[in-house]
Amino acid sequence: MQNLRTLPQIDKILNHKPFKDYNKGILARISRELLNSIRSNLKDEEINEEKIYTQINKNYKAFEKKALKPLINATGIVMHTNLGRSVIDEKSWQRAKQIACSYSNLEYDLESGSRGNRYDYTGYLLSTLFGCEDALVVNNNASAVFLVLNTFGKGGRCVISRGELVEIGGGFRVPEVMKESGAILAEVGTTNKTRLSDYENALDENTKMLVKVHRSNFDIVGFKQDTSLEEIAKLAKERGIISYYDLGGGAASSLACFNSEPVPQKLIKTGVDLLSFSGDKLFGSVQAGIILGKKELIAKLRKNQLLRMLRSDKITLALLASTVLSYLDKDYNSVPTVFLLSRSTSELKSVAKRINNSCKNIASIIDTATFGGGGTLPNVKIKSVALAFKAKKGQKIENLEREFRQKGVIGRIENQCFLLDLRSVLPSDESALITAINSIFGGQDE
Ligand SMILES: *Cc1c(COP(=O)(O)O)cnc(C)c1O
Repeated sequence: MQNLRTLPQIDKILNHKPFKDYNKGILARISRELLNSIRSNLKDEEINEEKIYTQINKNYKAFEKKALKPLINATGIVMHTNLGRSVIDEKSWQRAKQIACSYSNLEYDLESGSRGNRYDYTGYLLSTLFGCEDALVVNNNASAVFLVLNTFGKGGRCVISRGELVEIGGGFRVPEVMKESGAILAEVGTTNKTRLSDYENALDENTKMLVKVHRSNFDIVGFKQDTSLEEIAKLAKERGIISYYDLGGGAASSLACFNSEPVPQKLIKTGVDLLSFSGDKLFGSVQAGIILGKKELIAKLRKNQLLRMLRSDKITLALLASTVLSYLDKDYNSVPTVFLLSRSTSELKSVAKRINNSCKNIASIIDTATFGGGGTLPNVKIKSVALAFKAKKGQKIENLEREFRQKGVIGRIENQCFLLDLRSVLPSDESALITAINSIFGGQDE
């Protein structure tokens, strides 16, 4: 039986030389939990200090694994929600860093020396880019949906098509968020068809809004009919109520691969009162909800007390401003999402050759197709190029996938090959990718 007195003191563990670089607070918690479990779980087995140190080390390593860390996205899916959606470019990061690491005029008017408004600057930038009267930035697009419905739809009926009651990733149901806002959803039409007359017939004195939701992650094909945003906006205007479009992801540029996605600049011209989208989907910036619309309506959103709970942080605003400035300069390569999605396959092929040459040409280079991800472009296949690896001798392909994953490289299995799809690989990740491939296949002769 273990003598409890021989268990090491926490202080001694904290000062154990091999642990000198470990975080003290975490090490203390892990040690305390282990010692407690030994005390309450005394068995006949021999417990010595050595074993305790080994176990603490193991638990600490398990803790470190959970920390946020950079990965190489070779899935081919550029806006991969599980991998953090959009990537921020270095230049934007440096601009934002200056704001993050010092005091700023976030809510201070330098001209008058009095309180300023945190939304004015980004509102100016976004309205310039999208050609709308004003704009507001909140925490994410879910917040935007909530704030818009809470401000204009609370206690009243908000008419929405049954074909647009979408669930996006992570069990997030747009209609549930809408209900939480206090608005009463009035569903009209059917799954595949909703006509203008369906909206018209649903209107009564208590109807406050007409709402349209982009079917971000699915498409209805075949026998279908949608009511256009123009028609919805026009009907709302005639009846003196508000029209709103939850766009999901919004692309700020009409590049070839975005062809089938509605662009906010054009949607605003339909006369819709308000529309919103995510900052980190096709827009390619930081997590945010971007709301565009009429000045007086944006002013009402700004006055809603709930905005305080949904408001964006200065780092977010600085990063978002930087992305907008890049778009306004037509400097699309500074927006990694746009850069990755618009690379030609011949460019990707030369990247593939470069990488493969540095890895003894162990992979074959194949043409493939991928998707945009992030709840956008559900039906659009994007051409791509991948490095394809066969399983090692006598092993399953899943083993290879795991080996890469353990080195922080995420790819996909297709036709019994492990693919590193270059559509989503950042240029800055190429050398790390080569290192990973070589370390996995290093010991193996081709
Ligand atoms: C993605 C999406 C949202 C949620 O946006 P977040 O920025 O993730 O909060 C809401 N509505 C639609 C239609 C979407 O596609």
